[in-house]
Amino acid sequence: MITYEINDALYINLTNRCTNNCSFCVRNHPEVFEFDLWLVREPILEEIMADLETPELYDEVVFCGYGEPLERFKEVIEICRHIKQKGVKTRINTNGQANLIWNRNIVPELCGLVDSISISLNAKNAEDYVKLCKPEYGAAAYFSVLDFARECIKFIPEVWITVVDVISAYDIEVCRSIAEDIGAGFRVRHYC
Ligand code: SF4
Repeated sequence: MITYEINDALYINLTNRCTNNCSFCVRNHPEVFEFDLWLVREPILEEIMADLETPELYDEVVFCGYGEPLERFKEVIEICRHIKQKGVKTRINTNGQANLIWNRNIVPELCGLVDSISISLNAKNAEDYVKLCKPEYGAAAYFSVLDFARECIKFIPEVWITVVDVISAYDIEVCRSIAEDIGAGFRVRHYC
């Protein structure tokens, strides 16, 4: 399934791939999700666009599926251009590792195309992050996520750092402080 609706938003599912393997990831618990998001193969841009003929029917278009949307950064840029032409708000839910994936700072290229970005942090330090999220890039991933968030503050109007409430109340508060220091909003997502 490439697109799915939740309330007034249209969600786009671009890939199963992710550079993390979080213990709480919905990919490991597909039974809890009402949509079948597993992609037998990744859709090409034309197939995605065919699902996006009328984005103006929605309040927001959100890049969020089974995997990390910025694994398909080039397609995200093309899709955002199309959606912004229709005057619709865009949001990306990301693990924040795109600059590692693409080996360069991609954030300036999101300027004017992405209205809101939600970055999963989920840990108060690199050691905890490695245990919980099992990143391909190891501890470097955690520091890259923080740098990515700082870059997003410069170029994207709304930046959120999120955690899932599988971590302790103390850890949540440390993450809240990290988000405040960066200048981002902070959200706690409920693990279901
Ligand atoms: S970052 Fe998101 S998509 Fe990737 S493994 Fe973790 S929860 Fe799943």
